[in-house]
Amino acid sequence: QCTGFIRNIGLMAQAMINKRISILGVTGSIGASTIAVVEELRARGESIEVEAITAGRNVEGLIEAALRLRPKFVAAAHEGSLARLKEALAHTGIEVGAGANAVEEAASRPSDWVMSAIVGAAALQPTLAALRRGVTVALANKECLVCAGELVIETAQRHGARLLPVDSEHNAIFQVLHHPERVDRMTLTASGGPFRTWSLEAMAKAGPEQACAHPTWAMGAKISVDSATLMNKGLELIEAACLFAMPEDRIDVVVHPQSIIHSLVTYCDGSTLAQLSPPDMRVPIAFALAWPDRAPIKAKALDLCSLQQLTFEQPDGVRFPALGLARAALRAGGPATAVLNAANEQAVEAFLNRRIGFLDIARVVEGVLELSAAGKLPSVSKTPRSFDEVMLVDNAARMAADRLATQRGVG
Ligand code: NDP
Repeated sequence: QCTGFIRNIGLMAQAMINKRISILGVTGSIGASTIAVVEELRARGESIEVEAITAGRNVEGLIEAALRLRPKFVAAAHEGSLARLKEALAHTGIEVGAGANAVEEAASRPSDWVMSAIVGAAALQPTLAALRRGVTVALANKECLVCAGELVIETAQRHGARLLPVDSEHNAIFQVLHHPERVDRMTLTASGGPFRTWSLEAMAKAGPEQACAHPTWAMGAKISVDSATLMNKGLELIEAACLFAMPEDRIDVVVHPQSIIHSLVTYCDGSTLAQLSPPDMRVPIAFALAWPDRAPIKAKALDLCSLQQLTFEQPDGVRFPALGLARAALRAGGPATAVLNAANEQAVEAFLNRRIGFLDIARVVEGVLELSAAGKLPSVSKTPRSFDEVMLVDNAARMAADRLATQRGVG
């Protein structure tokens, strides 16, 4: 019998993960998938201790997660949650805290691996706190890199921390990035979102219910709206440029409605490598948790014959201008991506609160970027290099976005 040139294929070793972890944003969609991965791996005998978990306002969800995961410390960003946390977790031995400082404390506590899954720029401070400890940060949050890419990468490098991408596209690229110095192009795939085939007239009347009804992924409200405008792909373009030091003009975006191919890397010899799997965020989360090994989780594997077809199309820049705005911001450099991110967060919130229509989101972002380029946003002139500088740009862009949203407002 031939023993094979490559040995040990498919021989699964036991008990490979021995980690103490923290989960920032445990009550969200990524938080729920992370809990599912942790519980499955624990049930298989892997040693995963939870040091700290955090949430924003969902105190009951945080309590439920605490009782399931048994962390040492639990923090809610909302100060008013402290009394309820204390009451519900009394006699469990779990320490509790509330407020932004408590969330930062959670990130600063001793753990080897931190899931960064708070939505928006609110993740920046705790993510920087985790990076300053020189540990591995599994980065699901993308807004951190969009508003403060240089600061995040520089902090990771200075403190010897490792950033592992969890966003499915960047995780896919990371999985096939065997020769980074030989990469020619990267291609990010996009599902196209719920409005891929809708007319502009229909999109103008769409509300949050339609925008959040994503065809292939179940996600939080903000990223769902970003997927509907294609701003999500714009944010991911900036994220990819930052994570992989790739120039903007060598990153393509292609719409792939089945969400099976999560992204592709084309090498200098014409070979293209891709990562494929049914859409399930547990896959990149488990990859990041087990890296450099792989975790044996029960995820559905690909059944090629049942797929029938994989299709691809160019993004439509007329119906989805947000992607072009993000490209332009990345090319412009300086504070532009931080402005884009903050304006988008405010515009999405205004849409979710029914203050503006769906098509107004990109118009508000465009308006704020124009003000910034014309030097009309206070404190916004150069690349923000510290947390305080990022916050100055962020605040100025949010205020301008709010003003424009009010002008465009429907109520
Ligand atoms: P969710 O809205 O489902 O969850 C967000 C989490 O952040 C919740 O735990 C929420 O707490 C917490 N949070 C909100 N505001 C604050 C705050 N000010 N301070 C501290 N915590 C806060 O989002 P998702 O899980 O969908 O996404 C999280 C991040 O991961 C986003 O950046 C997104 O772009 C990215 N991502 C998500 C994917 C997905 O499939 N969902 C895929 C790839 C990337 P509470 O529940 O209490 O409000």
